Amino acid sequence: MIRYTLLVLIGLLVTACGEREVQKSLTMVTEATFPPYEFYRGSEIVGIDADIVREVARRNNLKPVIEDMSFDSVITAVQSGKADVAASGITVTEDRKKQIDFTRSYATAQQVIIVPKDSRICGVEGLQGIRLGVQHGTTGDLYVTEHIGQPERFSNGALAVAALAAGKLDAVVLDSAPAKEHVSGNPNLQILPEALTTEEYAMAISKNRPELLEMFNRTLEAMEADGTLARITETYMNASPEKETAGEHAGLWERICTAFYTNFVKDDRWSYLVNGFVVTIEISLAAVALGVMLGFLVAVIRSTHDLTGRFRVLNVLCHAYLTVIRGTPVVVQLLIIYFVIFGSVDVSKVLVAIVAFGVNSGAYVAEIIRSGIMSVDRGQMEAGRSLGLSYGCTMRSVILPQALKNVLPALGNEFIVLLKETSVCGYIALQDLTKGGDIIRSQTYDAFLPLLAVALIYLILVVCLSWLLKKFELRLKKNER
Ligand code: GLN
Repeated sequence: MIRYTLLVLIGLLVTACGEREVQKSLTMVTEATFPPYEFYRGSEIVGIDADIVREVARRNNLKPVIEDMSFDSVITAVQSGKADVAASGITVTEDRKKQIDFTRSYATAQQVIIVPKDSRICGVEGLQGIRLGVQHGTTGDLYVTEHIGQPERFSNGALAVAALAAGKLDAVVLDSAPAKEHVSGNPNLQILPEALTTEEYAMAISKNRPELLEMFNRTLEAMEADGTLARITETYMNASPEKETAGEHAGLWERICTAFYTNFVKDDRWSYLVNGFVVTIEISLAAVALGVMLGFLVAVIRSTHDLTGRFRVLNVLCHAYLTVIRGTPVVVQLLIIYFVIFGSVDVSKVLVAIVAFGVNSGAYVAEIIRSGIMSVDRGQMEAGRSLGLSYGCTMRSVILPQALKNVLPALGNEFIVLLKETSVCGYIALQDLTKGGDIIRSQTYDAFLPLLAVALIYLILVVCLSWLLKKFELRLKKNER
């Protein structure tokens, strides 16, 4: 069994590593729910920032690679060397300048207030003591926290606007251009004329890459001089991504059909779910395999130590591993593995996720298996040894098979938890199933159908997995007789 697990794991790791780029590339990170600066058109990220970086890459013979991640991670990604440039409608601020270098500015923007059309709020004075939404980590968030009070923080502007449209907020503070886009898709919302701040957008580059900064500044200057910047901006500012809505007097059935068409059929949006599903399965399978191997190893070391007092040092190491992994959230582990441990190494994100979830799951599997080993009667070990079998052989052929059978339901449960835990992959810009649903949501401003579809797919997966485990358990029971 361990041999097959190993083979599956190696196969998946090799596939994951196969994604590496050999050609010299220019990697841009962004948060792609920020139209018109960055948004999805089909499966491609387009927008003012995306087009500017593609043009900079083209003029410098580089291959542009664009990755989507949460806004509060884009600067870290550049600092840690995971990306060359962050272009995400980033406002130049003094605090950010201490962390990274900014290119020359390519746009100006404002922080504006979005309210429902029938709202009584008509300016900044009305913002005190209301339910105010912002995008986490943005200059809007900073302004509101400093001048008004604690806001409700969302992972992107589109979600905050969706919460406002659903009546969960009284107002949202957002950058002017995306605010205009979001409001244009929502006839019940409006932007107040009074803006809170005026800001400059620039791209962020690591302080250790002065040559790259120089290249960007030179190219941006040339693009400004020959009118390319203005042309790109013009193209997107005037062409908002069109939204499909059923007429106001449409019946329920017609509304459902339109919503279904917009969320899944139009622009092949179903493909986000299908591709995400494949990524989720790939990561879950390989992480389960890695987790089982690690778990077995740790469990055998710990229980051998418990039974015989051997492996003292290894036991301490295993104990430390269990304490650290079980004492910290998986999403923090994922971020540490991605940004710190693999910080300066160019490895595939799928591989990072497999390692993170496998190492995490290994700790839980270890304790499950250890409890199984300890639950096998001590007499079994003595019987094996008195038959002349070595300790290892008795463990392998007598104890472990029984232990495994005892803990199968608990192990099955762990696999189910792992499958669902992979839904935090979006933090490192991996497009898993959950992230696929998020992307659809950010394009269609519909929270219900994409979330329902994602939930349904996870549910079906878990039901199938439970069924398989039950069958496996039954087979083991039959063999027993
Ligand atoms: N301009 C804002 C900032 O830099 C928001 C950017 C964004 O949400 N992509 O904080």
